[in-house]
Amino acid sequence: MAKKSSTSECPKCQGYGFILSDLEAKPCDCRKHQLVAQQLTQARIPRKFLNKTLDSFRGRDKIRKEVREAADAYVKGFNLREEMKGLRIFGVVGSGKSHIAIAILKEIIKKGYMGLYFNVPELLQKIRETYSSESDEGEAGILDMVSETDLLVLDDLGADAASGWVRDRLYLLINRRYEANKPTIVTTSFDLEELKTQLGQRIVSRLCEMCIEFKDLPREDYRRSHVK
Ligand SMILES: [Zn+2]
Repeated sequence: MAKKSSTSECPKCQGYGFILSDLEAKPCDCRKHQLVAQQLTQARIPRKFLNKTLDSFRGRDKIRKEVREAADAYVKGFNLREEMKGLRIFGVVGSGKSHIAIAILKEIIKKGYMGLYFNVPELLQKIRETYSSESDEGEAGILDMVSETDLLVLDDLGADAASGWVRDRLYLLINRRYEANKPTIVTTSFDLEELKTQLGQRIVSRLCEMCIEFKDLPREDYRRSHVK
């Protein structure tokens, strides 16, 4: 293992990243922090959301408190050993649902898990682009990437008018998560009935199986606090 430069040397491990105890080499805290930082940069979190945290979510006191409690409970209970459910976060445009989903994702990554964020219309566009001859990334690669990560955030589900192709891709993707027994956080501005119309029964049934409902987010709370 290459030793890092002495200027950034960690006093606990002298820059090796590991601490020897008895017969075991345990990763040092500095190495853990490095891995978390690395995971956070690889999670595809959009720049404008990079600083969003559960603390920075604003709203009327009652809503903020409820959101905070629900999010904290989810983060605290997160593991991949049991059948971990994902979340369905419903709220109209401007309610702060992306903010909450990303803040939870960041907390899960800080716990040492892998995580990925995707805006659904952008993900579909990315898959479409793999069909062009200029793309060097295959559809299978993208599907593997989203199905292998520990926690996946699918932001803005149902925003696209769902053609047969869109429904098939989304089902494939969501079903891969389901079969891998991996949790997914979905945000949407459509209720279940509307989602059924947009995406079809098959996808919505799967989602209901995979996700528990997060608190509904009213728009006026989030917006009002930003206007102040
Ligand atoms: Zn160290």
